[in-house]
Amino acid sequence: MIGFIGAMQLELDGIQALMTEKQTETVSGIQYVSGRLGKNRIVTAVCGIGKVFAAICTQTMILRYSPTLIINTGVAGAISPLLSIGDVVVADKVVQHDMDTSPIGDPVGLISGINKIFFDTDKKTSDTLAESLARLNINTLRGTVATGDQFVSSTEKKTYLRDAFGAVSCEMEGGSIGHVCYVNSVPFAILRSISDKADEGATVDYPSFARTSAERYVNVIADFAENWRE
Ligand code: SAH
Repeated sequence: MIGFIGAMQLELDGIQALMTEKQTETVSGIQYVSGRLGKNRIVTAVCGIGKVFAAICTQTMILRYSPTLIINTGVAGAISPLLSIGDVVVADKVVQHDMDTSPIGDPVGLISGINKIFFDTDKKTSDTLAESLARLNINTLRGTVATGDQFVSSTEKKTYLRDAFGAVSCEMEGGSIGHVCYVNSVPFAILRSISDKADEGATVDYPSFARTSAERYVNVIADFAENWRE
């Protein structure tokens, strides 16, 4: 069973349209749609915006569906100048950029207790996603994705996220999904197409491009599902 999580319905519309034998259940206000994608059993859920909804959804999906892998699909802002709208990021690792206990001596981004700043994504899954993207001729960048409860729309904040964490892209759920997967020992991957450049133009670009950018990875997921081996 592969789990797919998107923050918004438009981020899962394409994948859910490809599913067969669909069944739904709602837990804590989040709808889980399970069924088949080709030869794979999958479960999909629209979690809502931000880290708390993403965590609720990921933990519930793990407890009720026991996925062997969770993939977060969606749109994101570009930090790297190598990324244009419509390009796709496959995360190598995720970080929660708004986690900050640095005034009392910790490094910025440190999650106390487990004492980690970054969560690594599953390499085999990320490699397989990158192969699908290459087959479909979609410009792809691999790197760190920075997550926070904040829509980033300034050059100053972008520069901070690049300098502080080496981030290539920013969004609002991936770091939380990675955190929950880590504590449950579930492998995870992040696939995000660029809807905006997280700069002063992002407030115009995001509403214009979110839907078309989300459509960019639907064929990628279909190709991935064909080629995925447990
Ligand atoms: N009220 C809006 C909020 C959307 S927030 C709504 O419900 O539609 C933007 C979403 O897209 C988040 O899920 C986030 O993960 C992603 N995203 C795209 N561009 C982003 C950016 N520049 N900064 C942060 N998140 C971004």
